[in-house]
Amino acid sequence: MGVDPTRASIARVYDAFLGGKDNYEIDRQVRDGVLTEAPYAAHMAVENRDFLIRSVRFLAQQTGITQYLDCGSGLPTAENTHQVVQRVNPDAEVVYIDNDPVVLAHGRALLEENDHTTLVDADIFAPEDVLDNDVVRAHIDFTEPIALLHIGTLHHYEGPADKPAEIMRRYYERLPSGSFVALSHFLDPENEHTPMARRAEEKFRHSPMGSGSFRTMEEIRSLFGDLELVEPGVIRLADWWQDGPRLTPLNEAQHCIAGGVARKP
Ligand code: SAM
Repeated sequence: MGVDPTRASIARVYDAFLGGKDNYEIDRQVRDGVLTEAPYAAHMAVENRDFLIRSVRFLAQQTGITQYLDCGSGLPTAENTHQVVQRVNPDAEVVYIDNDPVVLAHGRALLEENDHTTLVDADIFAPEDVLDNDVVRAHIDFTEPIALLHIGTLHHYEGPADKPAEIMRRYYERLPSGSFVALSHFLDPENEHTPMARRAEEKFRHSPMGSGSFRTMEEIRSLFGDLELVEPGVIRLADWWQDGPRLTPLNEAQHCIAGGVARKP
């Protein structure tokens, strides 16, 4: 499928929020519309990306896992999963999944010379499409633990509200014991009453991008199913093993995105 410049894309809007260059006018309009209602929203993208880097570094350094399935990889930016992982273990395998044509084009160009990193075009909300994909199966050994990443993805699922937990359960069923998942999601910190979360959600969903749901902490916790949560559990990303002590209070954006890491026993 080609690129439609009249439609905003999740990956390009996220890139615009992160200050990247791989976005179009329509994407910047979505970003700016959200920013007028929720000025802190750009910071949510940064929080999310920082969590990706911290959680992936933790998985690479501490679990011994050597295969990573990164669902919804996004456009290449400063620090991507394969760079974080392969700095720890140069032979670790990383398979990225995305379905955005711009992500696929940029990613393939970036990865041309990396034998241990692959990019696959599949629907991350259809677990069987990902898990039974021939290229995925050629690079990932399903008899050994896998690190599954669903970072900043499930809030863009626009189907029934209870479906994301079921989607994740179908992934978990197929993961070998000892596998890990890292996941993040937009948080409505006061259960439907947080003005910034409401305003940002309205703007995202009624924009040419069309998605961006804020869920409660309980709903986000349910996305981990029966897995064992790694300390400190499901929490605001700003509080998930930061690099140092907190000297400043959380800002509005930091209150609106949560996640965690869990292990399949
Ligand atoms: N995981 C990265 C991160 O946290 O920095 C990127 C997150 S970005 C907000 C979400 C990504 O998911 C985008 O690149 C988008 O193209 C991809 N995505 C959304 N829906 C998808 C689907 N149904 N199948 C595959 N990729 C999808």
